[in-house]
Amino acid sequence: MSQVFFVSSRVLKNKGILQKFTELLEMINPPFIQKENNILIKTHFGEDGNTAYINPLYIRKTVDFIRKKEAYPFIGDTNTLYSGRRKNGVTHLDLAIEHGFSYASMNAPVVILDGLKSNNVKDIPVNLQHFKSVQLGGEFFSADGMIVITHVKGHLIAGMGAAIKNLSMGLGSRTQKQRMHGDIKPEYVQKKCIYCGLCAKVCPESAITVNKPDFNLNRDLCVGCAECITHCPTQALKILWNEKPALLAEKMAETAFVAINHLPGKILFFNFLINITPDCDCMSWSDNALINDIGVLASYDPVAIDQASYDLISQQKILNNSVLEDKDGDIFTLLRPGIDPLRQLEYAESLGLGSRKYDAVDLKW
Ligand code: SF4
Ligand code: SF4
Repeated sequence: MSQVFFVSSRVLKNKGILQKFTELLEMINPPFIQKENNILIKTHFGEDGNTAYINPLYIRKTVDFIRKKEAYPFIGDTNTLYSGRRKNGVTHLDLAIEHGFSYASMNAPVVILDGLKSNNVKDIPVNLQHFKSVQLGGEFFSADGMIVITHVKGHLIAGMGAAIKNLSMGLGSRTQKQRMHGDIKPEYVQKKCIYCGLCAKVCPESAITVNKPDFNLNRDLCVGCAECITHCPTQALKILWNEKPALLAEKMAETAFVAINHLPGKILFFNFLINITPDCDCMSWSDNALINDIGVLASYDPVAIDQASYDLISQQKILNNSVLEDKDGDIFTLLRPGIDPLRQLEYAESLGLGSRKYDAVDLKW
């Protein structure tokens, strides 16, 4: 059974979460951080307008730890499928710097793992149910070990965004992201449409044209990025909540399979259960947190840490002044009733990526 360590975000004996995180990293002291090894710190720099992404201070502490071991830290993420400043490597780096992830403040290079034009990629053959190959950002393969630092929150299609999501969408090339999203084509509900044209404006593939009373969605051009669904003010565009989110969850797990098998035993995961927002950090906003902050989890097992995150979150009371105020229950299911947030974990477990049963170790610091 995998161990999952927990430190609370509450201050105890004048010790705050930043110090607890640093001590947790020192306590675990991952053996794969060896002299002259390249250690990738995988995180998410936050979309333009988003404020809920992991605070760069935690990344700096991780860099300091890696440098103390005389290893070489680098901080990375891949370009997005959807339009925005994270779609292009140059503007992605600009945004990362704006959000506090500069060399000067981090003391480590920030690397766009699939390159400035998303063409630094590596296709790895696999024999899985959905994929015969998985394509990840090329610089991921320059890492001798990896620390994955994830902000846990809700997600439009996966239900919950946590370590498996960070590994898969976060390391996948744009092509791989398209392969994962490929089944998520939006459905149009004409009677709800106000012909504002916002969907056409945000669509990265120019798949939508709106000219009242005409609305046209070219399904051959659509890559299933769900940007139009996110931005539609009237819910006139939606995903058919049948088997499609489950398919995405399984494809995410198959993508994560390649990353985990490339660095067996050389990946440490931290899940931050802090500022748990309804939507992912790819959104250009951050709504109020749904529940109180909980703390930080650490494990070598991505399935165990995500399951433990889900278990801790689903026991919490929902806060007033959040989008779910006055409701009671598991926030992920309340947010997206048709999606099973645990499908990604069930499937990942069946692929041997980890165990949903875990040994929770509350360090009580
Ligand atoms: S964003 Fe929604 S309401 Fe506006 S044109 Fe598109 S489908 Fe219609
Ligand atoms: S139509 Fe919607 S889901 Fe398809 S590519 Fe355009 S924005 Fe993305």
